[in-house]
Amino acid sequence: MAYRWPAGTTFKRIDLDVQDRLCPVCGRAMHVCDHRYHHLWTLQGPTQVVNRLVRCPDTSCQSRGRTFSPEAELSISMPRWCMGWDVLCWLGHRRFARHWSVPQLRLELKDTHQIALSDDAIEHYIGLYQTMLAARQQDPARLAEAYRDIESLVLTIDGLQPEKGHETLYVVRELMSKRVWFAEPLLSSATPEVRRLIVVARQWAERLDKPVRGWMSDKQDAFVKAIASEFPGVPHRYCYNHFLRDVAQPVLELDSRAKVKMRRKVRGLRAIERRVLEAHRPAAAPEPTPPDERSKTDAPPLAGASEAAAPCASSDLGLPTTDSALAATGVATTGEALVEDEAGEVVLGYCAAVRGILNDSQGGPLHPPGLRMREALQDVRDSLDRSLQGKKGGLQSRC
Ligand SMILES: [Zn+2]
Repeated sequence: MAYRWPAGTTFKRIDLDVQDRLCPVCGRAMHVCDHRYHHLWTLQGPTQVVNRLVRCPDTSCQSRGRTFSPEAELSISMPRWCMGWDVLCWLGHRRFARHWSVPQLRLELKDTHQIALSDDAIEHYIGLYQTMLAARQQDPARLAEAYRDIESLVLTIDGLQPEKGHETLYVVRELMSKRVWFAEPLLSSATPEVRRLIVVARQWAERLDKPVRGWMSDKQDAFVKAIASEFPGVPHRYCYNHFLRDVAQPVLELDSRAKVKMRRKVRGLRAIERRVLEAHRPAAAPEPTPPDERSKTDAPPLAGASEAAAPCASSDLGLPTTDSALAATGVATTGEALVEDEAGEVVLGYCAAVRGILNDSQGGPLHPPGLRMREALQDVRDSLDRSLQGKKGGLQSRC
């Protein structure tokens, strides 16, 4: 893909020569016969690489007609690329190790390095980076090295669906070195399709010359059949995770029903919050100072109350922020309004905590969401009991 350089771009020039100017056939000094120009982005900016091409001057030499180019050219970039290796590595590392998006990469290249590339160009080069990475990951020599001290192999296969409705990505992993061997998207999970992957796994194991001690999967029909025929006699076990999930299914269903019941019982948060916020409002109303003349440090306690109440009242969906609570207590000095405010903030704080608990759906089979909810609600109740026992006063009765 040709890159269109803006008019007037100034390039940093790099001249390259062949390492050995002597003809490899007859040993004569070779002459420069042509120049090849390569314009590209490096992290130093727009760069022009000038390759001096040479050939043997002896017309009777066996090497006649052959042109030699500088070896160093490939250490800067690949032919026809619009970027050097440095930019390619910069892109690939940020994309795959840090999960930056393409627009984010484009903007950062522009802002920090003044390199102007389109999203399409960035995607193209990320594709090249990925291809090289996969080739390196699957290189037989590197793989043999990684498996030198491993006696036997344990293989797994699983299908992942990154997005519903898309093709499933089948991943074959080896557990002894915790390495993804290969992955392939398949349109169907039919046995012949899956078998092809199992065959490739067998070929890999054969090339490594290591015995396969076992297979692990969710025991889909296609996996069971293909593995049984390609790896006869090799044990095929259920994956812990899938096994646990399947066994726990009835428990999770009961748990989910319990959650619905608890939600039904713990309600009316909105009404409590509204009452607290309304209690703040009349206190703020008689405040005479116009808002622009009011400074935070001089403001009477009432101003603090209105500032604290306003953000909560205006955001009907949002939770009351601790910022506003801090602002209120920071500004207010003494008096009844302060105590009222503090009690109100405590009530709002409890409401926020309980809403967080009701909306939390985390938790796996060993610690299901409903059980977590019940524990968390018990913590809130204990906390309320402690507050009420600690201070028996008129204000606390509001809680
Ligand atoms: Zn020669």
